[in-house]
Parts: sequence; C-alpha cells; structure tokens
Amino acid sequence: MIDFTLSEEQLMIQKLARDFAQKEVAPKIKDNDQKAFFDKNILTKMAELGILGLSIPTKYGGSGGDYISLGLACEELEYVDTSLRVILSVHIGLNSLTLLTWGTEEQKQKYLVPQGKGIKSATFALTEPNAGSDVVAIETKAKKDGNYWILNGEKMWISLADVADHFIIFAWTDQEKRKKRDHSGISCFIVERGLPGLTTATIHGKLGIRAGNTGSISMSDVRVPKENMLGQEGEGFKISMFALDQGRYTVAAGATGLVRACLDASVKYANERKTFGDVIGKHQLVKEMIADMATSYEIAHMLWLRAGWLKNTGQRSTKETSLAKMYACDASERASGNAVQTYGAYGYSDEYPVERFYRNCKGAVIYEGSREIHKLMQADYVLGYRIDKPTRCSLPTPEE
Ligand SMILES: Cc1cc2nc3c(=O)[nH]c(=O)nc-3n(C[C@H](O)[C@H](O)[C@H](O)COP(=O)(O)OP(=O)(O)OC[C@H]3O[C@@H](n4cnc5c(N)ncnc54)[C@H](O)[C@@H]3O)c2cc1C
Repeated sequence: MIDFTLSEEQLMIQKLARDFAQKEVAPKIKDNDQKAFFDKNILTKMAELGILGLSIPTKYGGSGGDYISLGLACEELEYVDTSLRVILSVHIGLNSLTLLTWGTEEQKQKYLVPQGKGIKSATFALTEPNAGSDVVAIETKAKKDGNYWILNGEKMWISLADVADHFIIFAWTDQEKRKKRDHSGISCFIVERGLPGLTTATIHGKLGIRAGNTGSISMSDVRVPKENMLGQEGEGFKISMFALDQGRYTVAAGATGLVRACLDASVKYANERKTFGDVIGKHQLVKEMIADMATSYEIAHMLWLRAGWLKNTGQRSTKETSLAKMYACDASERASGNAVQTYGAYGYSDEYPVERFYRNCKGAVIYEGSREIHKLMQADYVLGYRIDKPTRCSLPTPEE
C-alpha cells in the first residue's frame, strides 16, 4: 500500500537539505549567479553533510536513505537554486546510482565509495555537438588496444564537466553496428580526470543555472583500462537509459521545488503590492496565477513521490518518472513566468529571485529528455507502441 506519510528519517533529510540551502547558499546565490561563479566549497559542504551520498548504501561510502529522501533533498535544494539540485542529478542520479546498479564490486570500491563519501565528484557524459535527443547519433569511438580502450570524441553540454573527478562516458565500440544505427554497438566507460588526452572546458553565456558548471569534454586517444568498462560491451545504450530514469527523477523533484519557490515568492508579493486600492492578491486574475502554481505544485509533488515509491519497492518506473519529469518541468516554466508576471516590472529585474527562477527553469525542459521526447514517450505508452519489461533496469531497494 502506498503511504505518503514521511518517516522520521525522511523528515530529517528534508530539513538537512533545507537548512543547508538556506544558510549556506541562499545568502550568496544572487552574487554567484550574476558572476556565473561555481563555488566549489558547496561540494565540500554537501560532502560533509552526507548530501552527496544520499541513497547510496553506507557499505559503499554513502549516507543511505531511500529514494524519496533523495527526492525531498532535490526539492529543497532547487527551492533555493537549480544549480544545487543539478549537482545531485549528475553526481547521484546519473552516475552513482548507475555504478551501484551496474558496477562490479571492484568498480564500486574504487569509484563509488569515494563518490558516496563526497571525496570525489562525478558526472555523466552522453550528449555531443551532433547528438542530444538522438542518442544513437553520438560519434565518440572506443577502439580496443590490448588491455585498454582508446577513446576519441567530444562531449558537450555536460553538467560539472569542468569540475567532476569521475565521468561515465558513452562511445561506439562496434563501428559496423554504428553504420546500421544498432545501439547494441554502444558501450559505457568510467573515466577519471587526469588521464592523458582528456581535457574539459566551461561553457559561458548560459541563459540560466549560471551558478552551476556546464561544459565540454574532449578526448584524444584517452587510454582507459579495460576493467573500466561499465556493464558488458554493447550495454551502453541500456545503461544510459537506466541512468536517465534516475536523473529524471531528481529533475522532477527539483522542478517541483522550483514551482514551490515561485508560489511562495508570489504569495508574499501578492499580499504586499497594492493596485486599485487593494493588494493584488485580491484580483481574480492574480489569484488564477497563484491557483495554477499551487495546483501544479501538488500534482508535481505527487507524481515524483509515486515514482520514488516505485523505486523504493524495486519496480521499474520509466513511464512514471518520465511523466513526473515532463509535468514538473513544464509546471516550473509556467510558474516562473507567472511569478515574474505577478511581480510586474519588479519581477523583470534581479531585485527579486523570480527573475533567476525564470531563467533557471528552462534547462530542465530541454535536458534529460526534452519536453517533446517525454511527450512522445507518454503517447507511445498509451498508444501501446512502448511496453517496458521489468528488466535489470531496477534500482537496488534501499538498505534498511
Ligand atoms: C544546462 C544543461 C545541462 C546539461 N547537462 C547534461 C549532462 O550532464 N550530460 C549530458 O549528457 N547532457 C547534458 N545536457 C544536454 C541535454 O541532455 C541535451 O541538450 C538534450 O538531450 C537535447 O539535445 P539537443 O540540445 O542536442 O537538442 P536536439 O536533440 O537537437 O533537439 C532540438 C529540438 O528538437 C526537438 N526534437 C528532437 N527530436 C525530436 C523528435 N523526434 N520529435 C519531436 N521533437 C524533437 C527537441 O525537443 C528540441 O526542442 C545538458 C543540457 C543543458 C542545457
């Protein structure tokens, strides 16, 4: 039976993330955003608090906690700034949970343990200059050479590219299959910063998430030991889709937090600003915007909770996670637009955070499956063109 009453532990993690974001980040986020400054101290503080190890079992260096706790943390972090939640999306959602599910014991000891402790940070590199939604269009190649794979290619739009210590990188290992667009020719590799031939750079001039790091990775004859292949040769596409199921979950919960941030900011202003002799909250059309924010917050929250419950019970949640992600991201775009509208001209300046919310929301409507890709998925489910099997694509159930 689904019970959405939060446990003591879930409430504790929610409070931990909220207090951290409010005390450590909120006072300086406007400045960091304006300067497009990624504050590495934030990673250190998140590690100290165990936030970087959420949902990773303690035996692998993590702080434990179930998947709903992870969602709650994402909601609280994005309530303050999207850049904070992005850290959890790539470090935990896309990378660590993928290592936990697909890694060998040796890989877990070597890479997951330091990631769980937050000593090392991690990200996920699938997108390339010529391949985003169309994953099979990636061009990065890996060629076998004795006990190594030699990687060549470019990754683009990678969160934490210029910061992370560990990367999960996808590349074609079978060129014949590539010609036929047969995704069973793609494999996945664990790659460490510092390997000769690997360089990273930061993308400047982004619309939003300016306090976060987004960048590119170049690989020129990067020699990756064969034991760093994640999963079997040819399982890369399957692993990437598994990882996205977890990343999208964190995005859904985070975007829900952004809707709540827009709602709270709008309610406050609507009760202060007066026009035509009354506070604007008394005007029906302002109420309509606030009603939409309040309603979509509740829906978005329930949708990611359902996905979290499926994950907690070891069930596949691709469909439910996609729906939660699509709905919450659309809702956050609408809510932030309406929050700026509620503030009038003052929402149009950086005097209030709603301007930052409006810029920050857009990334998530594009990444981890754009709105259009999720619409296609949802339509394919109801049309019967897509049926998911309960495969290995299920997370381990959280430890007691
Ligand atoms: C801030 C940010 C952070 C990111 N972080 C990461 C990361 O950490 N790791 C990573 O691997 N990637 C990351 N990405 C990349 C992101 O996942 C891609 O941008 C996304 O997959 C879309 O790919 P694209 O930009 O190439 O757009 P395209 O795939 O070229 O799509 C362009 C437009 O066409 C639409 N479209 C495409 N195909 C279809 C179709 N079949 N039907 C209908 N419409 C379609 C899309 O919805 C979109 O509107 C990030 C992107 C951003 C903006």
